[in-house]
Amino acid sequence: MTSKIVFIKGDGIGPEVIDPALSVIEALHPGIELIEAYIGSEAVTRAGGPFPGETIDLIDEAGVCLLGAVLSSIDDPDPREDPGDMKAVPPAQRSPLLRLRRELDLYANIRPVRRPGSVQGSEVIDLVIVRENTEGLYSGIEREVQGGVVTERRITEEASRRICRTAFEVARSRISPAGAGVVCVHKANVLLSDRLFLDIFRQTAAEEADIASTSLYVDNAAMQLVLDPARFDVVLAPNMYGDILSDLAAGLIGGLGAVPSANVGADHALFEPVHGAAPDIAGNGIANPTAAMLSAAMLLDHIGIDGGDAIRRAVDEVYTNGNTTPDADGTASTASFTDQVLTALKGDN
Ligand code: ATP
Repeated sequence: MTSKIVFIKGDGIGPEVIDPALSVIEALHPGIELIEAYIGSEAVTRAGGPFPGETIDLIDEAGVCLLGAVLSSIDDPDPREDPGDMKAVPPAQRSPLLRLRRELDLYANIRPVRRPGSVQGSEVIDLVIVRENTEGLYSGIEREVQGGVVTERRITEEASRRICRTAFEVARSRISPAGAGVVCVHKANVLLSDRLFLDIFRQTAAEEADIASTSLYVDNAAMQLVLDPARFDVVLAPNMYGDILSDLAAGLIGGLGAVPSANVGADHALFEPVHGAAPDIAGNGIANPTAAMLSAAMLLDHIGIDGGDAIRRAVDEVYTNGNTTPDADGTASTASFTDQVLTALKGDN
């Protein structure tokens, strides 16, 4: 098993949350090799372009990467381009993060949503969004036509089959007593591409019959998530639905500051908070590092090194007995929250 972890701090609050996550990893595994890499604006300054080959090589070798946040807004100019030429490359192709996910074929985006410190029980929100990460509306296949723009929504059998399989694997690893299982969200009554996704889901569900499964139209799923989020266990979705529903689910547990994620492929995995660069709070010392710490916990689980559960327990303890950052209704700074987690980790040993 690897003992090398590549990390990319990124933009905005990225460095503010990655430093605490690294300190947690180092506290657990002092000998681990942490290697810094760059994409996005930082890479332009250091390596002359937003997507250096060296970064891919480093991740290729280590197999795993922890990432903070990289700006991908339509308002962020691509440093490669003349600002007057913004339409030349579709935003999904410009985005260094989407490119990284595509280049490494990180097809499964796994986003566990649970408010740290919440006690197990039938009313507690504890679900995982499993989102297809490589195609759908974020394929980056767009073209200008007379009087408009066409975006292709490509959904393939192969990509659908592997993400459906992942959703059942995730459900099996969690097996909740309620046996809620996998819910596939789609709009198969309107979109042929979703009809394919749903068909593959049903075939997979038949092969994985020990796990409960059902499906919901995405619009209904959005409402049910708001009305009764605790009934959900694993929510499987094509790319954009998964993106939107995970922010919705994050809102139900108090915001994006506590939602981690894994982007997993056959050979590599990238771990990152679901939140973005949050420019509105960057530099204020109040960013919540929980999502980054919990992403680090998922990374340790993935590479088979212990510590993931210890991180989750320590974060739970601070949410229960300590002082959280303002987004989680506390008054702690990023630094003092991190100190509390490190203290809880020491107490756990
Ligand atoms: P992107 O498009 O890059 O994904 P976004 O537009 O979804 O980004 P975020 O940067 O994720 O936006 O932030 C959304 C809101 O959540 C902002 O108000 C931000 O301050 C808040 N937020 C996000 N992450 C955190 C965090 N770690 N701690 C505190 N607040 C956060």
